Amino acid sequence: MKDNYGREIEYMRISITDRCNFRCKYCMPCDVPFIPHEQILSYEEIYQICESALKLGVNRFKITGGEPLVRKGCLDFMRKLKSLPETRQVTITTNGLLLGEYAKEMKEIGIDGINVSLDTLDRDTFCHLTGVDGLERVLDSIYTAYNLGLKVKINCVPLKNVNEKDTFRMLEICKNHSIDVRFIEIMPIGYGKDYAGITLTNLERRIREMYPNGEEVMRKLGNGPARYYHPYEFRGSIGFIDSIHGKFCDKCNRVRITSEGFLKTCLYYNHGVSLRDYIRQGGSQEGLIRLMQETILKKPGEHHFGNCEDAQEDTRKMSQIGG
Ligand code: SAM
Ligand code: SF4
Repeated sequence: MKDNYGREIEYMRISITDRCNFRCKYCMPCDVPFIPHEQILSYEEIYQICESALKLGVNRFKITGGEPLVRKGCLDFMRKLKSLPETRQVTITTNGLLLGEYAKEMKEIGIDGINVSLDTLDRDTFCHLTGVDGLERVLDSIYTAYNLGLKVKINCVPLKNVNEKDTFRMLEICKNHSIDVRFIEIMPIGYGKDYAGITLTNLERRIREMYPNGEEVMRKLGNGPARYYHPYEFRGSIGFIDSIHGKFCDKCNRVRITSEGFLKTCLYYNHGVSLRDYIRQGGSQEGLIRLMQETILKKPGEHHFGNCEDAQEDTRKMSQIGG
């Protein structure tokens, strides 16, 4: 469907849990209080929301979290969602720790893509950043999935004085494999506010200088706007996603469902509606579709990250929203 600004909204990110087996410094650095189970959407409720979204033409779904693979039943849910005839795409974003165990089943289900969040290839920095000594296991998972023929992408958030020194090493992955590595600007959300990112345009310039023989990839790769550069000697491409400085709100195609069932129409604003409350109050399927349609229509035109303190800025943490 189109929103009031004429943007085609066809992609939904669904956070199925706020829990995680990592403690990434910029996302969930400590044992934050988790949302009680009964306040989290059940799979049946998420499924009902997806069925309604499909009626509105929202037909590409990204399963996220917290860490989606820590929630029991995640694969069964993705299988069910994938089997709906109108579903165009089901993808997942994961920290990769449990991916190796599930990769084969994901291949069998026909999962359309796996984004693995990986910020460094240095073991100590990985431990420091995530709180888990799991780099080797994550890398094994990535290559298990890749060797099964699953489409894998790596998302890396470079942070000043933390992992910025490791960014060039990340390129080893896409040099030797058909795996895109995408650098993502840290956003001032939740604990991310305590960190500074690096300027991605500078990083891109330096990479282009190192690998001058290459081309900008014009085709849209993935679900969102990213600039890609493909050095000719590389098998994969390098992406740059600067949502704050390279604002691309005019091309925004997405809405989000938080783990508590809030339909969130902009990453920045707290605009949206609790679909969970509507469903639990006995609302009909037609009513749910209407409610989603009315809410998506009013999706804000643009974010105002970094501008000023805004009373309408969302205070949710990234682990509740799902990225
Ligand atoms: N646990 C899964 C994972 O790490 O991929 C899915 C959820 S996680 C919240 C989704 C993505 O959000 C990760 O790639 C993570 O790096 C990113 N993220 C978390 N906090 C962020 C922030 N403040 N700014 C930018 N990206 C952030
Ligand atoms: Fe967990 Fe992903 Fe947040 Fe890291 S970024 S703490 S893996 S939800």
